[in-house]
Amino acid sequence: MKRDLVGGIEAGGTKFVCAVGTGPNDIRAEVRFPTTTPEETIGRAAAFFHEQERVTAVGIAAFGPLDPDPNSPTYGHITTTPKPGWANVDLAGEIGGTLGVPVGFDTDVNGAALGEWQWGAAQGLDTFIYLTIGTGIGGGAMVNGRLLHGLIHPEMGHIPLPHDWERDSYHGRCPYHGDCLEGMASGPAIEDRWGVKGQALPPDHPAWELEAHYLALALRTFICALSPQRIIMGGGVMAQPQLFPLVRAKTQEYLNQYVQSPVILTQITSYIVPPGLGNRAGVLGALALAETAVQ
Ligand code: ADP
Ligand code: ZN
Repeated sequence: MKRDLVGGIEAGGTKFVCAVGTGPNDIRAEVRFPTTTPEETIGRAAAFFHEQERVTAVGIAAFGPLDPDPNSPTYGHITTTPKPGWANVDLAGEIGGTLGVPVGFDTDVNGAALGEWQWGAAQGLDTFIYLTIGTGIGGGAMVNGRLLHGLIHPEMGHIPLPHDWERDSYHGRCPYHGDCLEGMASGPAIEDRWGVKGQALPPDHPAWELEAHYLALALRTFICALSPQRIIMGGGVMAQPQLFPLVRAKTQEYLNQYVQSPVILTQITSYIVPPGLGNRAGVLGALALAETAVQ
């Protein structure tokens, strides 16, 4: 199938990545720049696309919370973010307006999930989740072949976790919930708890055992609630390769053989996996979202 030339914007809280292409093996141009004010950042994205070959649509995979409901008056907006200047910004409207093309708009993690489904580790599946463990923790989901939105969009990073204060006296850093998953296990939470960034902690540091404990508790919840056929885990923190075996083993331990699938009982290495697209899942996911705008 010949694909249209489309644009993608991975709109992150710290950086924007914009690309033009048709898929992972055909990226014609790409640029990245820091996320500053909405005016400057959206202006740079628009200027990039104006310089390129004309695209038929643009996909935006954005940090949130955001409004992905096309029937809502605030569709395409970043909504309640604490990021200065970005609350209530009509990101999809401004990009679509200045470029004159349809826009596909979703969360960064739903975008990454779609990219992984088209080109990466979720090909052929219809129900799976994509998690990012980075500056924040978020999850995107495809359920029965459709990206999950529901009321607004899932907020998988904000589930509560059992907190054993004797084992871990860290109070958590989520401004809304304190010791939710993101509050306890995001990159900044690791840095806060141990006094150095995750990338500076050695692989045998107790931080990773604790991190895997929290992530596996969360996976148990997601497995029980959504019954995903696979779980893809990306984001900066998962660059620690020792985390995958720890998380897999603890997930099996915490499920305690209750979910009777051979995939979990004996093939867990192919069940909890890194992104097939590596750290390109975000921007390629944005490209994949562009196609949703023209269908
Ligand atoms: P973002 O979530 O902002 O898109 P990342 O996914 O790169 O970006 O996540 C950044 C977070 O991940 C930071 O808190 C950083 O300390 C942490 N991080 C980045 N690389 C590593 C690493 N190799 N090991 C552990 N933590 C890391
Ligand atoms: Zn929270």
